[in-house]
Amino acid sequence: MISRSAPVAPEPRIAGRFAPSPTGPLHLGSLVAAVGSWLFARAAGGSWIVRIEDLDSTRVVPGSADEILRALERYALTSSREPVWQSRRTSLYAEALERLRVQELAYDCACSRAELQRMATAPSMTDGAELVYPGVCRSGLPEGRSARAVRFHVPHGIIAFDDLVHGRLEENVAQQVGDFVIRRADGLFAYQLAVVVDDAEQGVTQVVRGGDLLDSTARQIALQQALGFEQPAYAHLPLVVDDSGAKLGKRHGSLPLPALDERRIGETLSLALRILGIDVAHDRPDLMLQQALQRFDVACIGRNPFRVEG
Ligand code: GLU
Repeated sequence: MISRSAPVAPEPRIAGRFAPSPTGPLHLGSLVAAVGSWLFARAAGGSWIVRIEDLDSTRVVPGSADEILRALERYALTSSREPVWQSRRTSLYAEALERLRVQELAYDCACSRAELQRMATAPSMTDGAELVYPGVCRSGLPEGRSARAVRFHVPHGIIAFDDLVHGRLEENVAQQVGDFVIRRADGLFAYQLAVVVDDAEQGVTQVVRGGDLLDSTARQIALQQALGFEQPAYAHLPLVVDDSGAKLGKRHGSLPLPALDERRIGETLSLALRILGIDVAHDRPDLMLQQALQRFDVACIGRNPFRVEG
């Protein structure tokens, strides 16, 4: 007799993800990204996964990844799979970098930040902004210099994409950003490379996250195209800012959410849902999420930052 194993249920085609950096406890801005990505994925009948983006060991706060995971549980946000940790996946990033090198789309760069700042034509205008890399090392390291970072050779042309919240957007990455770093001078793989590799490797079809990452999207699409990955759908959610307009979590360090007080959990989740244009009647996280799912409408998500009283 032929023995047959039980049929394996196919993985749902839609996969959303929440990818927090464990640089502090979950704050309101990251809760909005968590809930928003969950709603988009679940509304499409898809799975939702959590990825801990702990590659930048210089910014990781010990214990905060576990704290974030525990907080997600309290908000009834359950990952469809065991969360993955970027720090355990560096061989995947090394492999992708190697593929780019083989295509001559990645190259060593000797330039330091101070040198790049000196080369910029109007340094005062680049304050706080990213410097456009002038391509010094693109055709080889200058005589006597050694490699620091590795850069991606950005193809010419406009990258356009349809954001589900912001509509059609475009960027000329070569002109506005230039060849950007994919492995840093300290040897760490850069966020832009890791996120693209992980989203593809994990089968992510929807990238739903805070509006602060909108200007990383064209860079990520350029990398996806170079690596032959499929492009996910994008939705960028309202950024949560304090009353001075600063992004929460940037100016004061992260603003911890009340985690253990059940009553405050309901309030906080209801605020996060309101930021996404949804009002719910319940105060138990699981019921709130179920009701939010029924009322979810992309058209109700605003494009502007949401200001909370500081
Ligand atoms: N790890 C990033 C952050 O916490 C988010 C990355 C992403 O969603 O693409 O800001």
